[in-house]
Amino acid sequence: MSYVVWFKELRKDSIATAGGKGANIGEMLTLHLPVPNGFAVTAQTYGEFLQKTRIQPKILGLLEGLDVENTDKLQAVAKQIQELIISTPMPTEMAEEIMYTYEMLGSIKQKATDLVDPKEVFVAVRSSATAEDLPEASFAGQQATFLNIKGKQNVITAVVACWASLFTARAIYYRVKNRFDHGKVLISALVQKMVNSEKSGIMFTVNPSTNHDDEIVIEAIYGLGELIVGGEVNPDLYLVDKKTRDIKKIEVRKKDYGLFRNDKGENEKLVIPKDRQERQVLNEKQIKELARLGKKLEEHYGKPQDVEWAVEKEEIFIVQTRAVTTFKAHSIERPDIADETGKMLLKGETASAGVYAGPVKIVRDPSELNKIQKGDILVTAMTTPDMVPAMQRAGAIITNEGGMTCHAAIVSREMGTPCIVGTEHATDLLKDGEIVTVHATRGIVYEGKIEIQEVKKQVAEEVVSSTADLVTATEIKVIMDLPDFAAKAAATGADGVGLVRLEIMIANGGIHPAEYVRQKREEDYVHLLKEGIRKIAKAFGHKPVWIRCSDMRSDEYRNLQGGNKEPHETDPMIGWHGIRRLLDESKILRAEFQAVKELHDEGFDNVGIMLPFLIRVEELRKAKVIMREVGIEPVKEIDFGVMIETPAACWVIEDLCKEGISFVSFGTNDLTQLTLGIDRNNERIAHLFNEMHPAVLGEMSKVIQVCKKYKVKTSICGQAGSKPEMAEFLVRQGADSISANADAVEEIRHTVAKVEKKILLDAERKK
Ligand code: PEP
Ligand code: MG
Repeated sequence: MSYVVWFKELRKDSIATAGGKGANIGEMLTLHLPVPNGFAVTAQTYGEFLQKTRIQPKILGLLEGLDVENTDKLQAVAKQIQELIISTPMPTEMAEEIMYTYEMLGSIKQKATDLVDPKEVFVAVRSSATAEDLPEASFAGQQATFLNIKGKQNVITAVVACWASLFTARAIYYRVKNRFDHGKVLISALVQKMVNSEKSGIMFTVNPSTNHDDEIVIEAIYGLGELIVGGEVNPDLYLVDKKTRDIKKIEVRKKDYGLFRNDKGENEKLVIPKDRQERQVLNEKQIKELARLGKKLEEHYGKPQDVEWAVEKEEIFIVQTRAVTTFKAHSIERPDIADETGKMLLKGETASAGVYAGPVKIVRDPSELNKIQKGDILVTAMTTPDMVPAMQRAGAIITNEGGMTCHAAIVSREMGTPCIVGTEHATDLLKDGEIVTVHATRGIVYEGKIEIQEVKKQVAEEVVSSTADLVTATEIKVIMDLPDFAAKAAATGADGVGLVRLEIMIANGGIHPAEYVRQKREEDYVHLLKEGIRKIAKAFGHKPVWIRCSDMRSDEYRNLQGGNKEPHETDPMIGWHGIRRLLDESKILRAEFQAVKELHDEGFDNVGIMLPFLIRVEELRKAKVIMREVGIEPVKEIDFGVMIETPAACWVIEDLCKEGISFVSFGTNDLTQLTLGIDRNNERIAHLFNEMHPAVLGEMSKVIQVCKKYKVKTSICGQAGSKPEMAEFLVRQGADSISANADAVEEIRHTVAKVEKKILLDAERKK
């Protein structure tokens, strides 16, 4: 086994060997970006160190039964373990390979013959966590960084110090609290040449002062970049046209000082010689080359970048790159804004109202979901349905992305968990472990714990008692996904369930439907569905419960067993999901029909079924054949319907009715997305997402008219069913039922009753 891997051999999937930081370097090198050279002492090397020196049992012994809440004890054990690691000599062959590779790094051509006269260079030694075990920001051990290390013995010491940093008190505490196995945590140490910066600076691939994204801005000084960040030296400023790379502006400023590294590895502030103080730092060729690299980085990461660069011997190096945020340029800073309630940290859209204060847990990857404990605030870029079990433990949810119809919004509303979506920066601005107050009703996150009087819940309960016996001609149904919440949904007095999304039940089961089929375990899948649906059907007595066949987009369930076998699609939202997929993998569809058939046999004949994302009458026809094979006659023996969620379905509605269906249900989330050409999960254009757009209403109106002709029932199960204005529209169009979220049933019932009464009175008047 080789104990080290050169950076150039790393790729973006090298996390298991070189950790997250190492894989990132690998990715940059694949793009031919000039990253300072170096190598990774692999995570497996650390594992072997523990094994060969036989210290692992000792470490685990010290940790066994440790009460991490006892701070003194925790500190003492942490110190003992770190000392144990640091004082244990590294096996000779391991140390030799690391030292040899370090010497190679210093030699110019990196050939064995160069080593006749080895040159020791300054390196940075950083720990790089393997992602499965160590969530990024929250893990203290991975922060260990040793700069300006020179000499092979010192490199070995720094590598071992990185390993020991896995056992700081904070890191131990963190792992215990999040139930990570100390024995399975691995870490890589990266040894990277330090650029001896003669010049350096920063580059933005958008102009941060004007927000023009067709301009690249470069700032440059002599020496190390720290003086720019600290604002101590006025940098040169170069403005470049991003498209043509023409230099649009050069402002040369007077630079009195520079920070330079001396032979001892210390930074020294030196006066710049008079004749160079007002000289341009970068020449035109370098400016253009930097702009080219910046553009490449932006294209690769798909976002404007904030890049740190340095020049040594006229060679440019990219030292660091990160996405530009709309907040202050150099580091993401919290806005300093307060309102009458408290200090505001973030704003977003209210997905599920309520107020909650608690500790932030940032989840950057689904593999980190187990760190969410009951009552934590789940903060993540975007929730996917496979996060549902963790979402159920969360006290509140905050996401960067996603609009009102994303699954985070839908599921949190059903659970009654306060949720804010589309904050853009939650995962950057909030810190793991900090206490914040989520005022979801107002879409604001406040610093610290703040007492806020929330009266909404009580009001809602009062409304239940005042409207539950209102009789409406249009049926008011509820939509629901979580069987455990069936009683709560039934308590609304709804006339049935207009949509049960099987996906959520599936996510809770932990196995992808396609995986059940691959393992020939369809029976288990049938069993899982039956358990969940039965709970709902029971809670609603004899009222109709419409189940929707699974509609699983390929990007949303990767965390389930078998989810890694899902295809990678350009746009999963319009990809292989819904009925088109179920007919390709008909064993899944058959199992779903089978579950419903068996429930009918048990007496739950209130369960109906509908097909998602349909575009052709053939899809309906083929599904019916499969249903008959399972042993039920569609329409006759079971409510059998289709979702209307594509413009295509609106256009072929007459054929669908002729083919024979019991009902249609408008999936306005998708119908609006596809009619308006607006990605429903994109918070940037969320303000344009409007189910009341005349194009969407026009389609719905046409569908209802045709369905009336064929005596096919009409309903809605998209998010818009919870909006009073949509309810009014549907009542006036003569829809048979409206389905709303549990927390909106009362308001919708009220609206419907009012509109129906008005229609009657208006008709009376006209007589
Ligand atoms: C819809 O598209 O409106 C719908 C109800 O389905 P989903 O939100 O699951 O896509
Ligand atoms: Mg849909």
